[in-house]
Amino acid sequence: MQAAPTVLIMGPPGAGKGTQAGQLAEAFKLRYVATGDLLRTAVANATSLGVEAKGFMDAGDLVPDELVIALIRELASQLPSDAGLLLDGFPRTREQAVALNDMLHELGRRVDIAIDIQVPSEVLVERLSGRWICSSCQTPYNVNSKPPVKDGVCDRDGCELYQRDDDTEQAVRNRLAVYAQQTKPVANYYLDQKVLVTLDGNQPPDQVRSHLFSAMRSRSS
Ligand code: AMP
Repeated sequence: MQAAPTVLIMGPPGAGKGTQAGQLAEAFKLRYVATGDLLRTAVANATSLGVEAKGFMDAGDLVPDELVIALIRELASQLPSDAGLLLDGFPRTREQAVALNDMLHELGRRVDIAIDIQVPSEVLVERLSGRWICSSCQTPYNVNSKPPVKDGVCDRDGCELYQRDDDTEQAVRNRLAVYAQQTKPVANYYLDQKVLVTLDGNQPPDQVRSHLFSAMRSRSS
């Protein structure tokens, strides 16, 4: 692994990428970039990107490649050469993976490790349709498995919880279908590059984290 590694975290919606990625970024001092978060901010601020992206996102479809690739290209161009990078939710299509490869090549970098967190679909539907998020600190809750102490209110800061527009059951099913069709095959791209690590995400988050950290350490040594 390079001194300033480039790490990808992949897997279906609801696999726990965000939770794991936050801890990974902190422990391994990686700059964390989640395209979903960037796009949601663009939508909230009604930027031209946000206005274009919103309809696709609400329906659970992918935002067109050229928009997302341009977003990552801009970020990559501003990345200090000694900064490690953790990408969450990108690439999601083969075109994005090829574009990322070219961008990194220009910067003298490459993908060092692509982590694919796997979870069965029926578990994902339950996780996502029960998910509520703090409107302020973004802490995730689940009405089935990790409810807040007080309904609709964040335990940490008392702010209101909200459900993402694309966490409705219909959008969730579409997101899973889109993932199976367009994103799952991207793992093969990284398998061919011999950087793919597959983890079982259908276990408690602490166990997933422990396997994830071991995989990172074994690549670093
Ligand atoms: P996420 O928070 O990663 O689940 O992303 C939420 C939504 O943002 C997705 O369902 C897509 O509509 C959009 N999105 C995020 N990342 C990408 C990407 N790499 N390519 C296309 N659309 C994306």
